[in-house]
Amino acid sequence: MPTNMNPFTNAKKQLDLVVPLLLSEYSDPKKFKKAISILKKPQNLFKKRLTIKLDNGRQKSFWAIRSQHNDARGPFKGGIRFHKNVTEDEVKALSFWMSVKCAVAGIPYGGGKGGIIVDPKKLSQNELQKLSKSYAQFLATHIGPRIDIPAPDVNTNGQIMAWMLEAYEKKMKTQAPGAFTGKPLELGGSLGREEATGQGGLFVLLAYLKATKKKVGGTTVAVQGFGNVGYWFARLATDVGMKVVGVSDSTGGVVNMKGLDIVKINEEKEKFGSLKEVSLMTKAKFISNEDLLKLNVDVLAPSALENAISDQNAKDIQALAILELANGPVTPEADGILESRKIDVIPDVLANAGGVTVSYFEWVQNLQGYYWDKKTVNNKLKPIITDAFNDIDDVVKTKNITYRKAAFFLAIKRIIDAMILRGRV
Ligand code: GLU
Repeated sequence: MPTNMNPFTNAKKQLDLVVPLLLSEYSDPKKFKKAISILKKPQNLFKKRLTIKLDNGRQKSFWAIRSQHNDARGPFKGGIRFHKNVTEDEVKALSFWMSVKCAVAGIPYGGGKGGIIVDPKKLSQNELQKLSKSYAQFLATHIGPRIDIPAPDVNTNGQIMAWMLEAYEKKMKTQAPGAFTGKPLELGGSLGREEATGQGGLFVLLAYLKATKKKVGGTTVAVQGFGNVGYWFARLATDVGMKVVGVSDSTGGVVNMKGLDIVKINEEKEKFGSLKEVSLMTKAKFISNEDLLKLNVDVLAPSALENAISDQNAKDIQALAILELANGPVTPEADGILESRKIDVIPDVLANAGGVTVSYFEWVQNLQGYYWDKKTVNNKLKPIITDAFNDIDDVVKTKNITYRKAAFFLAIKRIIDAMILRGRV
């Protein structure tokens, strides 16, 4: 892996870029520098090979990781990803971005992230249940509602959280729904959590369009990644009158410059298996993932994995703005190229913060044992996300810096202030 594709190297580069801006905010540069060096490593890292018995009777082992980045502002918080390309550095970067994201949203958490190196499509439901439960057993004494609260991420969902909760509660001999978020409603999940990341992304985009005096109706959008986040964002964007002209998953995608029917495409994807199949079976126009990123649209929303836009393709981007719904989809080198081309990048730590914000609501409801209706959830989500955007936008304008630098400036300051108050530095 070339260094510029290592997510943890990239996360540390993003941090270094705001150090000169932050230095003057602190009277004691030694304390500040110590805090920065602490933020360059997770506080705790747990790793283990988990062995399960497969349906065919054989044993198989999988590497499992949990990175707890920083808990100065509250318990560690962040998802668990199941993917064949998970690496330790990826999980470390994702946990760092969670610390930044929670500080951007102003919710009382630090950052964490977990992963298992596995292709979940190759496991049966029974095997997946065993692996999920084994992961929660391994981490049980290191997580919990007041310590570290995992949630879904790439290829994990409410069912996996339900299995993990069961294993955790059994081992800890307690009932603790607040130990995981993104749970099914039956087990203490929150209304609105399923669509929260897409909904939050839309609130950010609406605030951005307002701030830049652009209109909502007819705004053209391309979405790379058609998992939970990409699907919900695309669907909600069309509901408010935007025109989603291209969507793709890992197999490629479909494009129609007149606009796509997102609900129908999702039904077809479920029927045929992938967006490539949808294009073959329905005669929709196929587009490769690479070409989808180069579409001439107002907004490009990379919603899949890290490094989708790097120094290799940043010069070919035609969108006016990029809304990072995935974590880490634009590398620092690409950021530089896009900045010089005057393409705004609305960073992941703001654009996809709706997910963890509704996770926070779920946790609050679990701790109180009192549940809200969906309207309450959305009415509380919108001001948190819109205020976060406006705070960042103020810094963008007063300091004349990018949205990412402004978001990091505010968030890292909040984290370091908490570290100083606690006497950690
Ligand atoms: N995995 C999501 C993220 O990257 C959600 C995390 C959470 O809800 O804790 O933001």
